[in-house]
Amino acid sequence: MGRRRRRKVVKIVRKTLPKVFVCPRCGARSVKVLMNVGAGKAKVTCSICGLTAELPVSPSSQPVDIYCRFSDLFYARKLG
Ligand SMILES: [Zn+2]
Repeated sequence: MGRRRRRKVVKIVRKTLPKVFVCPRCGARSVKVLMNVGAGKAKVTCSICGLTAELPVSPSSQPVDIYCRFSDLFYARKLG
C-alpha cells in the first residue's frame, strides 16, 4: 500500500578482490587474510581447521598474493 519506496541499489563492485579463500588443508572456503601493512605482515587463518600462518607483506601486496604464498608454504609442508 501507499507509494513505492525507493529500492536500495546494490552495486556489484568488480574491483573488490575476494577476501575469503579456499583452505589448502580442509578445502573449506574459510581462509581469511588479515593484512597489517604497517607492521609489514599478514596473518592467514582458516576458521574451520585452524591452519594459521604469519607472512611478511609489502605495501603493494594483495590478499590474494598472501594467500598464494600461504598455500605454497602449505604444499611445501612448512605449515602445520
Ligand atoms: Zn582449513
